[in-house]
Amino acid sequence: MSESAPLGSFAAMNLPAPLLRALEDVGYEQPSAIQAEAIPALLAGHDLLGQAQTGTGKTAAFALPLLARLDLARRTPQILVLAPTRELAIQVAEAFQTYARHLKDFHVLPIYGGQSYEVQLRQLKRGVHVVVGTPGRVMDHMRSDKLNLDGLQALVLDEADEMLRMGFLEDVEWMLTQIPPTRQVALFSATMPKEIRKVAQRHLRDPQVIKVAQKTATADTVRQRYWQVSGLHKLDALTRILEAETYDAMIVFVRTKTATVELAEKLQARGHSCEALNGDVPQKQRERTVERLRQGKLDILVATDVAARGLDVQRVSHVINYDIPTDVEAYIHRIGRTGRAGKTGDAILFVSPREKRLLQSIEKTIRQPIEPMQMPSARAINEQRVQRFKQRVRDALGSGHNEFWYQLLTEVQQEESAEPLEIAAALAALLQGDAPLLMNEKEKPPRAREVGKKAAQNEARPLRRHKTSAGGKALALKGHPEIEMQRYRLAVGYLHEVKPGNIVGAIANEAQLDSEYIGHIEIYEKFSTVDLPAGMPKETLFALKKARVCQQRLDLRPATERGGQNTAPRPTAAKKGKPKSKKKGNAGKGKKRGE
Ligand code: AMP
Repeated sequence: MSESAPLGSFAAMNLPAPLLRALEDVGYEQPSAIQAEAIPALLAGHDLLGQAQTGTGKTAAFALPLLARLDLARRTPQILVLAPTRELAIQVAEAFQTYARHLKDFHVLPIYGGQSYEVQLRQLKRGVHVVVGTPGRVMDHMRSDKLNLDGLQALVLDEADEMLRMGFLEDVEWMLTQIPPTRQVALFSATMPKEIRKVAQRHLRDPQVIKVAQKTATADTVRQRYWQVSGLHKLDALTRILEAETYDAMIVFVRTKTATVELAEKLQARGHSCEALNGDVPQKQRERTVERLRQGKLDILVATDVAARGLDVQRVSHVINYDIPTDVEAYIHRIGRTGRAGKTGDAILFVSPREKRLLQSIEKTIRQPIEPMQMPSARAINEQRVQRFKQRVRDALGSGHNEFWYQLLTEVQQEESAEPLEIAAALAALLQGDAPLLMNEKEKPPRAREVGKKAAQNEARPLRRHKTSAGGKALALKGHPEIEMQRYRLAVGYLHEVKPGNIVGAIANEAQLDSEYIGHIEIYEKFSTVDLPAGMPKETLFALKKARVCQQRLDLRPATERGGQNTAPRPTAAKKGKPKSKKKGNAGKGKKRGE
């Protein structure tokens, strides 16, 4: 498929050869919808306003064209990407590294809170081409003249609405005023609240606006469910589905060619009749594979979108979106591979926490909710395995061809003077081999951090906290009453024009703490308090002491500790009136400081 650079392929996009090679390495078959539009626009030097969620391929949509225009000989930052969280910053930096793997002497540096300034400064001194960072840290480096952006060619604002929610928008705007006016700006946001549109109006020059148009029709013969990835790996979840669902044939969709092969191998190793189907498989062989699926000689295909285009096999009862598709159109096409010819079908979508937005946009476009599903528990799976095992024994008992074995085992029984059931048990163990029949039922609950990430990264809700008790005692954390909280004091208050969102953003990034775990915040004149999980590691507390918000060192310390004035806030602590800005909700309102 990809040999002759068809229209709409990466090869047709005028990307330099080393980048195309990297894309071949990672196994992308075709540009996603956002890439098809953004890459040419950015290559042509336009500013860009793109509405896209995580999972749409937006990182490659800006990384590839900007890398294409990079001057490797100049070792100064030419591309700056601002991302709301350290996780995203790291992920984006890794993506740059991946796409630039064949560019000689290429350097990208992630800059985020919680990491030592010294390390970052040393790397900066050595010379980097791309900086990817969280706004707070990047701004610190800029203010202290450690990050020289005179040679900057392009600035990307990634997940702008999330930056707004975390209280970073003003910092971002400040940075926009500090960079060369000739630079290119690309702004990506899952939603376009008016604050973001305003930033775009003020700082983008005649931007190309990209919002991929979506088809809306899905067959109503397909039952659509989604599973929020948590606690289990996707592979384990798929294995459970394969056991628990009654299916005839199944197509499992993944993003890349490489992934088709890897996953197919893993499923084969688990005893499933499965093959990979991707654009690299020669046409003839593809046809043979599909034919085997049709005839029931094969049950599972692991495919890319390209390879499964137009696939029409009535036996396909299930479509699993193992990797979420990059756009709604692809989703609609995928699930259309089942429920064909009047039959009903099942579609299951795996959604990782960061991809929740994409799920919402699929639901919005197809104008129907997709039901959440629970992964079958280990116990339920075990019950089925026991039933299946009994059935195998029953079938064998009923087959009536056991005379030879009967004789042989009678001999064993006499020689060993064993009970018949003992012998049967020994044979069952032999039959089962090394893999135990039953799964371990002590399922590990999802790790707290994963749970936290879910809330921190995906819910666009404003951060609301409990009503205050205004005392020095920390309040219970909403949704996690089991977590003991401790009240801390921060050396920044409304005199410094701090808003709750600034505090949340800084702590989330500097302490690597999911914002769900950041409790009640109160802002007083010269200081604030924040409730955080008790027993935070020393290094984290140290990092938070040094972190800066509104140009103040946070100097975080337990609210009961001596050494600061107004250490433990009392209701009367604020002679000047009640504590201000109790709600973090206004973090998202983007008001000007001091308003
Ligand atoms: P992003 O929306 O940038 O977070 O990307 C989501 C995922 O899609 C990442 O795992 C990328 O590696 C993958 N991806 C991006 N572009 C493509 C493409 N054209 N084909 C297949 N996978 C892609």
